[in-house]
Amino acid sequence: MTLRIAVGGIHTECSTSSPVLMQPEDFRVLRGAGLLGHEYFNFLDAEGVKHLPLLHARAVPGGPVSRATYEGFKAEFLDLLQASLPLDGLYLAMHGAMTVEGLDDAEGDWISAARAVVGADVPVAASYDLHGNVTQKIIDQLDIFVGYRTAPHIDVRETMVRAWSMLVRALKTGEKPGVAWAPVPVLLPGERTSTEDEPAKSLYLKLPEHDTFPGIWDANLMVGYVWADQPRATACAVVTAVDKAAAEQVAAAIAQSYWDARADFQFGPVTGPLAEMLDIAEATGTRPIILADSGDNPTGGGVGDRADVLAALIARDFRDVLIAGITDKPAVEACFAAGEGASLSLKVGASLDPASASVAIEAKVVRLDAGHDLAERQAVVQTGGITLVLAARRRPYHNIADFTRLGLDPATVRLLVVKSGYLSPELAPISNPNLMALTDGVINQDIENLPSHRRHQPSYPFVKDFGYTPSVQFSARFPSK
Ligand SMILES: [Zn+2]
Repeated sequence: MTLRIAVGGIHTECSTSSPVLMQPEDFRVLRGAGLLGHEYFNFLDAEGVKHLPLLHARAVPGGPVSRATYEGFKAEFLDLLQASLPLDGLYLAMHGAMTVEGLDDAEGDWISAARAVVGADVPVAASYDLHGNVTQKIIDQLDIFVGYRTAPHIDVRETMVRAWSMLVRALKTGEKPGVAWAPVPVLLPGERTSTEDEPAKSLYLKLPEHDTFPGIWDANLMVGYVWADQPRATACAVVTAVDKAAAEQVAAAIAQSYWDARADFQFGPVTGPLAEMLDIAEATGTRPIILADSGDNPTGGGVGDRADVLAALIARDFRDVLIAGITDKPAVEACFAAGEGASLSLKVGASLDPASASVAIEAKVVRLDAGHDLAERQAVVQTGGITLVLAARRRPYHNIADFTRLGLDPATVRLLVVKSGYLSPELAPISNPNLMALTDGVINQDIENLPSHRRHQPSYPFVKDFGYTPSVQFSARFPSK
């Protein structure tokens, strides 16, 4: 007998402080054979399994998803799901921190709609980013849940394989796993909970040990997403298990361990206000100093259009600097109109979010990169001692190839400025040293002072003095034994 497993989902992370709504063109959409053949999904292969690709939409983190964009993807996904029936299983590849205009629990809405199509008898597995926010509504629809165990995320594929393998196992053996979770009222930024640093490193290294506990299939610690000012924002432990008592014991232990460590989470690199970080950079002789502009990091939901660091570096007449990059479509268009080698006056910054300030510069166009379409255009310009990369669309510069494509060598400059929190796995090893500036933006790292209107309180560190005892909640679908 061949098992029929459908695959799809929606994957993004949204700061509720960003005014820049996501539109369909912000998503990379995979369908049909393109989904199954994509490097993201090409592990899907097992004897006796027929995979039915639905739709998978993924966007660089940003502002909330426009309601029409979400409803469009959801309707197409549900139509494909309906057409794939009858099914033996469904695998959903999610992020978990999506916000949709007018929806407080977007993943809860998506997953519940999928459950309604497949019915009560079909096991549903979901994989999440550990920065996803979980709710009882989500847990109630699922039979299998897994989250990343690394941040920076170097186990994306491994995590997806864990979810899918458990689904195949359940279908082939007839075992019936269920999900239990324990919310932890702690909301810390990813930059203080990197698994490269303590205490997150040790807490996450314990998870595989919990997996070996009898009756447990998979143990998870979710940091959650603090820049969603919503009731559902929370850290939590989530366990997939076939034994209810074991699930309760392990979920409570993981939740308690995170709570107990809450005051120990620190930023990994030297971190402080921008002026202080630039003072340190000026006094540093090694290279490349890599300065993370953390409040405007697009991979955390930042807009990516801010020019604060550029303005500060111009004011200091800092030399031998590479800034990669600032999203500014009008500036990119102006550079393409002027052509390589031309000099022009540019206004850089605040092209998407009017809350920030722009900077007027005299620039020379060093290089133009047309990409595949207008949205992928990039321009490299020179102003004083600063080489600046301008991008037409919101995007990170976190891989070495992002630089070499433009003829730039991030390893040889004195100061490299990237819009990032903790550095990517490719940039971290070359940083000498790494500094993180607590810059303004829609993912400001000054959590204690973020406006918090809708987050459930008390939540640490918004409130510091309160007690907590883990309370483990089960999926409505958890087998009764
Ligand atoms: Zn993440």
